[in-house]
Amino acid sequence: MNRRAPFADRMNDALALLAGKHTLRCPVIGCGLRIRIRAVTPDEAARLTALANDHTRHEPKR
Ligand SMILES: [Zn+2]
Repeated sequence: MNRRAPFADRMNDALALLAGKHTLRCPVIGCGLRIRIRAVTPDEAARLTALANDHTRHEPKR
């Protein structure tokens, strides 16, 4: 369960990247949100990825 297959599917590949060290960025220009993640669970990585990509969830208040 903890072993990494060299040729896993793309999802596992992405998760392997997230399990290392990665910075998620908001796609909205001018937002500048960055979330640095390291060694998180796949569930947490998916949650943070969704959060980083959803600008409405971290929009700065005026
Ligand atoms: Zn944003």
